[in-house]
Amino acid sequence: MTPQEILRNIFGYQHFRGEQENIINHVLMDGNALVLMPTGGGKSLCYQIPALIRHGVAIIISPLIALMQDQVTALQQFGIRAACLNSSLTPEQARITSRQLRQGELDLLYVAPERLMTPRFLNFLNTADIALFAIDEAHCVSQWGHDFRREYVELSILHQRFSGIPRIALTATADGPTQRDIITHLGLEQAKKFIAGFDRPNIRYRVVQKNDPQRQLLSFLKDEGHQNDSGIVYCLSRKKVEKIATWLSYQGLTALPYHAGLHNEIRKEHQIRFLREESIIIVATIAFGMGIDKPNVRFVAHLDLPKSLEAYYQETGRAGRDGLPANAWMAYGLQDVVMLRRLMDESEADAQHKRIERHKLEAMLAYCEMTSCRRQALLNYFDEYFPNPCGNCDTCIEPVATYDGTEVAQKALSCIYRTGQRFGVQYLIDVLLGKTNDRIKKFRHEHVSTYGIGKELRQDEWRSVFRQLVARGFAKVDVEAYSSLHLTEYSRPLLRGEQRIDLRKDIKPRQRKEKKYSRSSRTSFTDTEQSLWESLQTKRLELANAQNVPSFVIFHDSTLEEMVQQRPQSLASFAQLSGVGSSKLEHYGQIFIDVLDEYALKYSDTPTPTANINENTVISNSAGVTFDAFNDGLSPEQIAELRELKASTIYEHLSQVIEQGKLELRQVIQLKEEEIHNIEDKLLERPTEELHTLKPVFETLGGVYPYEILRCVRANLWRQK
Ligand code: ADP
Ligand code: ZN
Repeated sequence: MTPQEILRNIFGYQHFRGEQENIINHVLMDGNALVLMPTGGGKSLCYQIPALIRHGVAIIISPLIALMQDQVTALQQFGIRAACLNSSLTPEQARITSRQLRQGELDLLYVAPERLMTPRFLNFLNTADIALFAIDEAHCVSQWGHDFRREYVELSILHQRFSGIPRIALTATADGPTQRDIITHLGLEQAKKFIAGFDRPNIRYRVVQKNDPQRQLLSFLKDEGHQNDSGIVYCLSRKKVEKIATWLSYQGLTALPYHAGLHNEIRKEHQIRFLREESIIIVATIAFGMGIDKPNVRFVAHLDLPKSLEAYYQETGRAGRDGLPANAWMAYGLQDVVMLRRLMDESEADAQHKRIERHKLEAMLAYCEMTSCRRQALLNYFDEYFPNPCGNCDTCIEPVATYDGTEVAQKALSCIYRTGQRFGVQYLIDVLLGKTNDRIKKFRHEHVSTYGIGKELRQDEWRSVFRQLVARGFAKVDVEAYSSLHLTEYSRPLLRGEQRIDLRKDIKPRQRKEKKYSRSSRTSFTDTEQSLWESLQTKRLELANAQNVPSFVIFHDSTLEEMVQQRPQSLASFAQLSGVGSSKLEHYGQIFIDVLDEYALKYSDTPTPTANINENTVISNSAGVTFDAFNDGLSPEQIAELRELKASTIYEHLSQVIEQGKLELRQVIQLKEEEIHNIEDKLLERPTEELHTLKPVFETLGGVYPYEILRCVRANLWRQK
């Protein structure tokens, strides 16, 4: 089979994404490759398809032992011969796999690096027919990254001993130095680099000023309709992880803690539950996440500031792998800066590493204080040019007001100076506001020139000024000396009036007019659609549990969504859904068609969802996007191509719009007047309650008109009614 045929027949996808096809062809021609692609970009297919085409078994090296079995199961669901070897297998299982391997019965084998290095395995490699080596999470080879694995360095043995076999290294995160490390350690100097853009357009970035973060988290979850979604909440400390998880549980959500201090078994269990269940929140330290490939993580929330933009990008990147809208939300305050600086100062890294860490923290802070598009800044940091504001981050959606803060900044800085650079923010604010208290009296600070000169701002506004000054390097927090504030080399020009500064106006949460962000999650369903969606989910869970696999291994949410929208009634039309290849069609097609049938029967005496004639038929978000694109002059086929959806889905969207009366039938389909009348007549001949299925009409018309057309004509009829 060709790569294209494998994509369609085995994986059930219509088109390659981005560079996938080029990468696959390159590896098929014996080429080595370094692949940098964001999470969810589709890295796996880049080695899986060559593995199926090339002779012999492909060896996939991955550090993620806990997840290997799931990856293998997912492949087996597609009918692919895959297995893994790692320390979690029983001797019996390992023996079976070894035998399959010797007998050439495997196309893909996942191994942990330490297993690869055993003399026995190396021996096997010497004699076996190897299709390729794929090194997943290749950034683990670099000390610069935060996931350094010593065993990865030893992978240099691959190019030294097996130089004739293609190597493909893959990662979602690698800045310049990390990339260089990957290249040298894995001998990829001559390899072709495939660097896809870093952008994750479906993720909406947002940073809010910390002010009762627990409550803020809860309102975020509610406002965004995340109550029934799965997501990750990151915290810095183990203690906080425990506290937030418990608290969220009290709020009626399913939340599990995850951190390095938990017993191994518990950690494993929580990870597995997160992968397998729906509507589940994991509250975690950074110990959680590498390789978590649950596709429908709908939000990632940070209650503490990550150490670097790399970490932030990687952590937020775990949201929305399925390409559907997802949220990256973070609450941030001055305390975070102090805390991280302290950790950094206390770290035992050498001077050079510390300098780099500090630099990274500064970039992180600058990101938090952005007044322009966050995505632009983020991509810029990864050396990617993004010309226009994205329209999908908080600063784009709700532009930040700024003001000339030169004068208040001068007051703040001179107050630090006049009081001897020995006090923390709260004390400085008290002085600026001209408060009288024992400490101020004790230090006789009611006599300094900055006493009481700051009454134009409120306490919280001053906090915001100090936070921004610290974040931008105009003042520094000395964590060893009671978090007192100091001036820096950048303070002088500002104090002398040689430089001006714009500050962002922080809006207090309760002042903010409740601005409605459009719900960023899944397509919205009508009530009846929702109940179908739930039945489909239940069936999926049932099948998953019976096989002890995560439910997305059976079908992704996006495939279930297409089922709701398209209601396939035959195996042939079921095969058209994205994500349905021959193996899944064979195993699950009829089972899901039965669910759809049962549903159609149940609702046959009431109008089916699309038959809902009342004006407030909800157009799904997805249909809205199609409608916009159609209005922009794109043909249904072009829209299908762009959105990576089936043309039939696009027509389904357009029929919804027609039914709403927002689009004329003739704008969508070009047929003669008589032909339309003829189709209408045939439709009207059917009993109304049977109209949800178009098959009889399709057949009466001799199969001349595709379902898409029938659906649009039907929608038009319903509108007229
Ligand atoms: P990565 O490893 O880059 O994070 P994956 O390989 O796990 O991403 O792919 C992310 C998701 O996208 C998976 O669910 C995969 O099945 C899906 N996917 C990959 N390639 C395609 C494609 N060409 N068309 C549709 N879906 C795809
Ligand atoms: Zn933006």
